[in-house]
Amino acid sequence: MSLIELTVPDIGGHENVDIIAVEIKAGDTVNVEDTLITLETDKATMDVPATAAGVVKEVRVQVGGKISEGGVIAVIEAAAAQEAAPQPVQAASEKNETAAAPAPQAAAFNGNADAEYDVVVLGGGPGGYSAAFAAADQGLKTAIIEQYATLGGVCLNVGCIPSKALLHNAAVIDEVKHLAANGIKYPAPEIDIDMLRGYKEKVIGKLTGGLAGMAKARKVDIIRGRGEFVSANHIQVALTESSQYEQASETGEHKTIAFKNAIIAVGSRVVNLPFIPQDPRIVDSTGALELRQVPEKMLIIGGGIIGLEMGTVYSTLGARLDVVEMMDGLMQGADRDLVKVWEKMNAHRFDNIMTETKTVAVEAKADGIYVTFEGKKAPAEPQRYDLVLVAAGRAPNGKLCGAEKAGVAVTERGFIEVDKQQRTNVPHIYAIGDVVGQPMLAHKAVHEGHVAAENCAGHKAFFDARVIPGVAYTDPEVAWVGVTEEIAKRDGIAITKSVFPWAASGRAIANGRDEGFTKLIFDAETGRVIGGGIVGTHAGDMIGEICLAIEMGCDAEDIGKTIHPHPTLGESIGMSAEVALGVCTDLPPQRKK
Ligand code: FAD
Repeated sequence: MSLIELTVPDIGGHENVDIIAVEIKAGDTVNVEDTLITLETDKATMDVPATAAGVVKEVRVQVGGKISEGGVIAVIEAAAAQEAAPQPVQAASEKNETAAAPAPQAAAFNGNADAEYDVVVLGGGPGGYSAAFAAADQGLKTAIIEQYATLGGVCLNVGCIPSKALLHNAAVIDEVKHLAANGIKYPAPEIDIDMLRGYKEKVIGKLTGGLAGMAKARKVDIIRGRGEFVSANHIQVALTESSQYEQASETGEHKTIAFKNAIIAVGSRVVNLPFIPQDPRIVDSTGALELRQVPEKMLIIGGGIIGLEMGTVYSTLGARLDVVEMMDGLMQGADRDLVKVWEKMNAHRFDNIMTETKTVAVEAKADGIYVTFEGKKAPAEPQRYDLVLVAAGRAPNGKLCGAEKAGVAVTERGFIEVDKQQRTNVPHIYAIGDVVGQPMLAHKAVHEGHVAAENCAGHKAFFDARVIPGVAYTDPEVAWVGVTEEIAKRDGIAITKSVFPWAASGRAIANGRDEGFTKLIFDAETGRVIGGGIVGTHAGDMIGEICLAIEMGCDAEDIGKTIHPHPTLGESIGMSAEVALGVCTDLPPQRKK
């Protein structure tokens, strides 16, 4: 027996990578290839496997910490001759040609099928329905297997769309308040929470109803049930009855569906923290969207986009907010200068922003939920809340659909690895959306779905997007894409940047919202735009232009000499490019470059 340090192998040159999960503790026995920790870069999450088997003596890392190649994860007492040569880590979400998770043996199925399709899509979320519709448009006989009543997945039913329906109402309430400064005063709004909930439901109904119609028009069959692979060419479906999303009961009937191609689009689910009790005053994002009550005092566990968006809604409706976040800042991923503007505008909503702090205990009592914190900004005493929103992340559903029985490799955490054509290790089975990795965003899922469908039709399509934008639909909105200043610093990318402050934008001033700015980031060598960020109203609607500029390989001249309409907020992108060129006449004179 000898003591061995398990270290981080080659992770593609990334440094100071965030540790988002630690799967081991002292006393555990690990085998070679067992996942030790999970890392997350801006591009991918990756599981770091054990290179030797043994008993863990000491764990040297923790969730929320950072680590680089060579960093020690743990010390184990290892059995001789069990050490494996270190292998480069394969990213779960970087679309590698080779799968890192071991490929299981597909099960055999000798029964009869009730139906056969060219393409079966498992999961009817934005990835799944987009893939199915695209496959049908290619002339392929297609079915979607979805367990719940409606198509649209998390995004349409309990995610993007309902949250935006509520955020829209919150933004109007806030906007009306701002009008007081211009001499237009309204009395405080009377809020009928049932009607507001009804509006949100109507929005969902309109969109999901539209999807059902589009499926019918394309002759895409929708099989209502819970699907599980039983071989590399068959899925067994336990039929369900479901009248609303996230609620379904099995009817007891089963159908076996044979397929030539399958697309796994099973998405992700909320991560539940083990120490949190069951109580109606503790909700996840779905519970928060139900809008059952407006609490006086609300805690958001997790300072990411989902938590902050929901916090915005509840705060505008009257709640006071606290937020607790393990990392050193809210809205991770966006550059801090963008986030600072949001923070300044939203400080009035929060009593306590607890960064570098974690939640260690939660107790439900008659008069409220008592939460104990640990860390840099932890209050000494447990705090009482009327509502606690747990928004601590989402976990992929790859292990919940029998993928292994089809021979599909699934990582420990439940991600399914795919190549650039969205193919899993089984060539006629594809995977898309949240289940293939970060960023877990609907627009990524849709694009991946289109690629998978085209490949099912025999074309050679690849997912080769240079960038995927991120948006926090808060007030103001924060949007970013491509290389951020933080990424450039971390990865040693030489950049230049240009910033156009909205304080000089006629439209932003006219709107009474000139707190924002638009930033472009250029490759210092080529001058091409490789990133950008916008903070301000409608930032999310505008970031697409910067995405296009990056995809097209534009430089500052391409953007600056494109005539943007005046007066618009979008103009700020052109002006930011003019700043880069030193020719912006809407700002004081710049030093000649
Ligand atoms: P999902 O939407 O998760 O859909 C998967 C579907 O598969 C589900 O309907 C599920 O019922 C079904 N399924 C799973 N397993 C089976 C099975 N075995 N049999 C049958 N059916 C099965 N993203 C954005 O881009 N913009 C936003 O503004 C945004 N806001 C969000 C707000 C909230 C509150 C949340 C929670 C998420 C938000 N997201 C947003 C993320 C977005 O919702 C997801 O990235 C997106 O829905 C992923 O799509 P998907 O198709 O991969 O999977």
